[in-house]
This record gives sequence, C-alpha cells and structure tokens, in this order.
Amino acid sequence: MEIEVREMNDNFARFVLSDASPELANSLRRVLASELPKMAIHNVEFHLGPIMGEDGKEFESVTPLFDEMIAHRLGLVPLPTYLDEFNFRSECSCKGEGCPSCTVMYSLNKKGPCTVYSGDLEPLGSDKFRVRDEFIPIVKLGPNQAILVYATAELGRGREHAKFQAVQAPGYSYYPAITFNYDKFDASRFDVSCCPVRILEKKGGKIDVTDIEKCTLCQACADSAPKGAIAVTGDETKFVFRFETDGSLSAASALSKAADILEKMSEELAKKVSSL
Ligand SMILES: [Zn+2]
Repeated sequence: MEIEVREMNDNFARFVLSDASPELANSLRRVLASELPKMAIHNVEFHLGPIMGEDGKEFESVTPLFDEMIAHRLGLVPLPTYLDEFNFRSECSCKGEGCPSCTVMYSLNKKGPCTVYSGDLEPLGSDKFRVRDEFIPIVKLGPNQAILVYATAELGRGREHAKFQAVQAPGYSYYPAITFNYDKFDASRFDVSCCPVRILEKKGGKIDVTDIEKCTLCQACADSAPKGAIAVTGDETKFVFRFETDGSLSAASALSKAADILEKMSEELAKKVSSL
C-alpha cells in the first residue's frame, strides 16, 4: 500500500492510494469514519436555581431550550484532540473515575440577553483545549436568563456516536484510465467539449488527457464516440481518496492515526486466525 499526497491542509486531504485493493481502501474509509478516536463533551452538569451577576443582579437559570438539547449541541462541538496525551476513560489508570489523562473539563457561564456560542466554553486548565470554531450557536438567552454548566469531555469513537467522528465523508473513487482506439474514430473531428470536467484536448490528430485525476468515470466521452473508440475504466488497485475533518484533528494526524489503527487491527485479526 502506498500513499501519494495530492492535497493536505488542516481540514482536508486528497491522496492517491496505490498498490491496494477495493477491500483495503474500504477498510481505511471505515477506520477513518468509525474507529478514529476524538474528544467530545460527554457529560454536562447544569446549575439549577438563581445565578448572581457581577453587580449583584439575579438571573434565572432558564433558557429557551431544554437542557438535553443544549447538552446535545455541546456534545457536537468539535474540540481540539491530542491523541498522544489521552487514554480512553474506560482504559485509563483512574479506572474510569476521570483524571487529567482521560478527561478535559469545560465551564460555560453566560448571562442574557445574548447568544451563547461554542467559543464561550472555557477550558479548565490549559488554553490549548480552547474550542477553535468559536461561532457555533448553542442557545439564545433572553433578558434575566442565564446558563451555568460544567461539561466533561472524553475520547470516543465514531461508531459509538456521531459526535466522536472526527472525519467527515471519507470517500474514494477508482483511479481513472482513458484509452483511445484511433482506428475506430477520427480524433480531429471528435467534440472534446462533451467532457463535463474539460480534461480532453485535441493535439496533433490525437486526444490528450490534461488531468486524469479529475475524470469522474462518467463515460460521456465514450458515449459520444463510436462504439469501442474510447474506453473509460477504473483501476482496481489504485484509488483517489479524499476526506475532511471537523477541525478536532488535522487531516495529516487523522490519516496517520487511521493507518496505525488499521495496521493494529489487521495484526490482531491475523493473530486470531492463526490461533484457530
Ligand atoms: Zn483517567
């Protein structure tokens, strides 16, 4: 299996996976979607009763939304995830009680009238846990309304809940190949504008493909030419892969962690099969 990176920025990756099989490409896709760990808020404690403002003004701890809806929204906020520094809570040396190696605490304290945003979550401890997407609306508070919550974040996997899914829409397509049989058609009279992604060009009586990775295997060129003149096929050992992350992990660390997980899972499977 080989990976050639075509595009890699904070939230997006596009690469060519070669020397692989459809099964392997799909395994990588599934690991990215459901096995990759991510930090998300999993427990929210709401303060009940009056909340005092700085000037002694009293606010009611009421909001226009039910507490469970606010908790759900907080759970979906992407939190910066440092995979090397944290354990799953259930596998931690604290035996699941919660400690700095498996949990991050946040507080949220806002008084109305205002809109509460994800950026109002204050990490208790290091500032590196501060939410990067600051303007995700959580709830709108009216006059005299206030919210005070303590939230606990922990690691989870996408297969447990979508809030633990760091990678969105991982997908791939077969690496395209276009072959021309010039005995069957006259390339100089062929209308290259039939290609919706505009990658065909006429050159010296032949047809040139300018960027094969843009081909979507739509067959429009093959359909416009006489039968057998143009063949568009997908390579079953090579794939154009792309995915984006929600910002909790960089695309590069998501990919490298997913490859580690896939390797570990394959080794475990091989071990179990050989012990049968
Ligand atoms: Zn712990």
